[in-house]
Amino acid sequence: MTDTRSTCPYCGVGCGVLIESEGDRITGVRGDPEHPANAGRLCSKGQTLHLTAAPHVARQTRLLHPQVRAARGAAPQRTTWDEALDLAARRFNGAIATHGPDAVGFYISGQLLTEDYYAFNKLAKGLIGTNNIDTNSRLCMSSAVAGYKLTLGADAPPACYEDLDHAGCVFIAGSNTAYAHPVLFRRLEDARRARPGMKLIVADPRRTDTAEAADLHLPLQPGSDTLLFHGLLHLMLREGWTDTAYIAAHTRGFEALEALVRDCTPARVAQACGLEVHDLVTAARWFATGASGDPKARGATLSLYCQGLNQSSSGTAKNAGLINLHLATGQIGRPGAGPFSLTGQPNAMGGREVGGLANLLSAHRDLADPAHRAEVAALWGIPSVPEKPGLSAVELFEAAADGTVKALWIACTNPAQSMPDQRTVRRALQRAEFVVLQEAFATTATAGFADLLLPATTWGEKDGTVTNSERRISRVRAAVPPPGEARHDWRIVVDFARRLRPGHALFPHETPEALWREHRESTRGRDLDITGLSYAKLDRDGPQQWPLREGDTQGKARLYGDGVFPTPDGRARFAALPHRPLAEPREPRYPFSLTTGRLRDQWHGMGRTGTLGRLFGHVAEPAVQLNAGDMQRLALRDGELVHVTSRRGSLVLPAQASGQVAPAQAFIAMHWGPEYLGGRGSGGEPLAGVNALTTSARCPGSQQPELKHAAVKVLKADLP
Ligand code: SF4
Repeated sequence: MTDTRSTCPYCGVGCGVLIESEGDRITGVRGDPEHPANAGRLCSKGQTLHLTAAPHVARQTRLLHPQVRAARGAAPQRTTWDEALDLAARRFNGAIATHGPDAVGFYISGQLLTEDYYAFNKLAKGLIGTNNIDTNSRLCMSSAVAGYKLTLGADAPPACYEDLDHAGCVFIAGSNTAYAHPVLFRRLEDARRARPGMKLIVADPRRTDTAEAADLHLPLQPGSDTLLFHGLLHLMLREGWTDTAYIAAHTRGFEALEALVRDCTPARVAQACGLEVHDLVTAARWFATGASGDPKARGATLSLYCQGLNQSSSGTAKNAGLINLHLATGQIGRPGAGPFSLTGQPNAMGGREVGGLANLLSAHRDLADPAHRAEVAALWGIPSVPEKPGLSAVELFEAAADGTVKALWIACTNPAQSMPDQRTVRRALQRAEFVVLQEAFATTATAGFADLLLPATTWGEKDGTVTNSERRISRVRAAVPPPGEARHDWRIVVDFARRLRPGHALFPHETPEALWREHRESTRGRDLDITGLSYAKLDRDGPQQWPLREGDTQGKARLYGDGVFPTPDGRARFAALPHRPLAEPREPRYPFSLTTGRLRDQWHGMGRTGTLGRLFGHVAEPAVQLNAGDMQRLALRDGELVHVTSRRGSLVLPAQASGQVAPAQAFIAMHWGPEYLGGRGSGGEPLAGVNALTTSARCPGSQQPELKHAAVKVLKADLP
């Protein structure tokens, strides 16, 4: 039996795993006791990884050979790699020759490795000359990126997991950490047991398992987070709990923010957020003082936040509002203190590093900056990087739906289930003239729309690196050979690029490490500089945090301890962004606020976790959770079928009374796909999953859609 050291492919905690294998079979998995993220622990999903790789599961779920469809709706037929790649190159070149490079687009994934991500970006922005490349990470963390850049000057989470061991107060906003980042939540529970005086505040409209564990739960109205943060700042100012010395020495723009929050009085904010004034006062005091009660005692507060802030039409304002609180109280840059966004996917952070969004370039460079474009062009040895902004995720599918984007390449993600407003996404997949799906699993909803299916390797089969929420780069290693004819994602990109433009010199790479070394060079002198890192160092010394510059022996656990920020004058900026109402508020015709979220034991569209019966032990089937009072008012019994309807579509599913959901709110888990949860679009077209209901309204600053809120109505299924 062999042990291979690798990383869990699920969430952004980035736990280390030891893969047990015999020959070409994965036989077990254990938590890696030497990995700093988890010290040997795994959650229910991580513990069962090896079962998802069992041969009988793989036979039913994996894409093992390239396949092509002669026509839409026809059964895909096996083809060779040569024929598949020639066809792809012909169709992409045809679209580019007729309509220009912006007629093609790439939609990739935070589950790809950094090397894959880098290759895809170079293919689109460097070789083809289009910035139409975006990722499913747009749906989970682009508001965090925008919030960090706006306030701190760079997309760099300043804190680390170890800060849980130093914090006096932990403020969780918009995150059900107990389900979405289970191993990190257990570390928080350990820290609370070790230091009983530590306080946990959770701001969440639902009383989730995370909120249930809190010393103070703030069950705010959906969408009112920015107001809450402004109200807390108002209180801190009123009580003298801000750190005036820190504000004066290390920040800029406080006066405008002070003016903005002047009328955010406790009474007004409590009323608008649906909270109690005394809870606001307690939260402000604990936050500002690190729960010590005395601002001079320098207690530390750490904020953890995720999709509740990010998946919002005002996601940038929410992120900035929370970071403002840290800057105003000097709660940043020291052990236990700082704003700390959690990444949902295993390598959303790596994608950010290589510029894996339509508006970014390698190593945290901005597409809009001519100097940054010139630097990347020089690095790649091309005349220029195109200036025209690329299309973000929702825009890309809207452009395909209206016929502007002709050819789509989708990798390692399932937009036919996971994107908001499924009517538009399905129209896009039907109208696009050529759709390529590069994927490990044949069972996703998107596979049914692809003209060409390219089999990719997945966890346990591929090599490279990922970066977790705390900026820690870990190795991913293959324990077994690829099944069937599956190829590594980076290899597929390189093979395609060589056929698309024969004779070019942009993709000489023969290993993932060669791609990674090129990425490393692009970081030289940047905030995420990793020129002191190598695969050899990762193999020798284990996972490392960035930055890790040439000559450094280790990376930085936390940032901005010196009070110097990566802005032109070294000062952080307060962002005075006003509260914006929800894109689609409740109204008499649609009187419920629908929110979506994760279950404890499932992952994304269930392509992997849905293959294991034991992971249905916690929650066995889809349901819409409603408050008991609403169930009574609607004369609903537990398990009775209801129509849940938004302006875009309708689903039929059982109603379930839940103490976690407030009156006029509804919750449906995001995971259930077509095989579990069917419905109809507003035009009668078949749709499935909760994104039949969600809206594509998005934040103007981050282009992240408001997956956390849609106005819906709930009616008994036997009513018209
Ligand atoms: Fe995997 Fe996240 Fe669970 Fe760790 S906490 S085992 S990374 S799913």
